[in-house]
Amino acid sequence: MAEQFDVVVIGAGPAGYHAAIRAAQLGMKVACIDAALGKDGKPALGGTCLRVGCIPSKALLDSSRQYWNLQHLFGEHGISVKDARIDVGAMIARKDKIVKQFTGGIAMLFKANKITPYYGFGQLQPGNVVKVKQHDGSEAELKAANVILAAGSDSIELPFAKFDGENIVDNVGALDFAAVPKRLGVIGAGVIGLELGSVWKRLGAEVTILEALPDFLAAADAEVAKTALKEFKKQGLEIRLGAKVSNAEVKAKGKNKEVHVTYADAEGEKTLVVDKLLVAVGRRAATRGLLAEGTGVKLDQRGMIEVDEHCHTGVDGVWAIGDCVRGPMLAHKGFEEGIAVAELIAGLPGHVNFETIPWVIYTEPEIAWVGKTEQQLKAEGVPYKAGSFPFAAIGRAVAMGEPAGFVKVLAHAETDRVLGMHLVGVGVSELVHEGVLTMEFKGSADDLARICHAHPTLSEAIHDAAMAVDKRAIHKAN
Ligand SMILES: Cc1cc2nc3c(=O)[nH]c(=O)nc-3n(C[C@H](O)[C@H](O)[C@H](O)COP(=O)(O)OP(=O)(O)OC[C@H]3O[C@@H](n4cnc5c(N)ncnc54)[C@H](O)[C@@H]3O)c2cc1C
Repeated sequence: MAEQFDVVVIGAGPAGYHAAIRAAQLGMKVACIDAALGKDGKPALGGTCLRVGCIPSKALLDSSRQYWNLQHLFGEHGISVKDARIDVGAMIARKDKIVKQFTGGIAMLFKANKITPYYGFGQLQPGNVVKVKQHDGSEAELKAANVILAAGSDSIELPFAKFDGENIVDNVGALDFAAVPKRLGVIGAGVIGLELGSVWKRLGAEVTILEALPDFLAAADAEVAKTALKEFKKQGLEIRLGAKVSNAEVKAKGKNKEVHVTYADAEGEKTLVVDKLLVAVGRRAATRGLLAEGTGVKLDQRGMIEVDEHCHTGVDGVWAIGDCVRGPMLAHKGFEEGIAVAELIAGLPGHVNFETIPWVIYTEPEIAWVGKTEQQLKAEGVPYKAGSFPFAAIGRAVAMGEPAGFVKVLAHAETDRVLGMHLVGVGVSELVHEGVLTMEFKGSADDLARICHAHPTLSEAIHDAAMAVDKRAIHKAN
């Protein structure tokens, strides 16, 4: 006999746990199923984001940034430290503690919201039934008026560079190296490759990133990408563009192993020899085994669940959200979809505005944007004005020893409405939300320019960039 629920969610990542909690807040009886286990072999809720994604990567970025600053920034403040060393074990243990705190936090939130967790693998059957193979070997059958699929994503594996968990790894392995690799190769100069490459570079690894595309960070504003690339190179990150990898072979070297990576660029075929290889070429929807025969739920060519703009699959009472559906693979996109679907189920007007989803890359300098890039506006034939302002002219940034980067505001040439904000520099992961807010409220560059910003703060760069849209920035020649 199936257990009856109002809502069953498969997947307790950012998308799934938001959906489950919001549905419970709205008075529904909710179950949430998750198959993941933590490093200790026990069930761990929170998905990729909390276990092996956003949070652990930021923990290591922060640890490694402290170490880097100690060696590269403290000197100019007159602070000297002798014999600075990094204890990788302690750094990883700190990261693991943070992960445990947050995955445990989701279990507590489920309890507080009276959500029934099921620990095991869930499969949707026809008729809104979900079968769960639980970790204890038992099977459960759940039935609900609404089922939300939030299965997330897994790393893409290259056929010629299979993950071995030791020398060729994905994000999971690169978040857990026992020591700083002497030479780290990274395939893919996307967000994950740049962030994890930065972590190990700051700790002393020689890092070489191979990117098949000829352009660096093609999705970002071209000027932002150019500035970021210049800064990464200054830090010693070796980024080779137009480098197509065709093979990776693990070979013995004395007692150790190394990876021989074959790639071709404009100059011909080359080999890169590294101690560890991180493959960060993207992620694919984790839909394998999720759907039994006859559910009617469709997958597209990439294995993503097909949904409409409301995350509905077209099958009565079946929804899908987060990384397993179209749109950016970002935790906060999943958060919003989870909330929206729970509200739609409750008869409320839930929605997600894809135009104002912020993007952030947590490198040094940070990169962030919202809305359209100049390239996109040009391609779409939208008339626009641009105003930018450098952090080098912002007192707070210079006082912090972080003058790199700038803010750029793009506004419609006729209406002045803000169409995009692009930032590279210190703390821009927080600053980008001024752009998000302005765009959500359909504000103009003039609105931003007339809002009083505290002095001295980094946010003054946004104020001056907004003023620069109409060539009236105070702190630079227009
Ligand atoms: C290294 C790294 C860093 C990242 N950093 C950021 C960042 O800074 N900011 C950001 O916004 N995004 C970041 N991301 C992306 C972010 O982690 C994902 O977009 C987000 O986790 C997707 O949420 P989700 O709920 O859709 O899926 P997931 O987080 O993948 O969760 C899905 C869950 O469902 C479970 N599951 C899947 N199938 C089943 C099944 N059939 N039965 C039971 N359980 C199942 C999985 O075990 C998993 O726990 C990062 C990703 C990585 C890898």
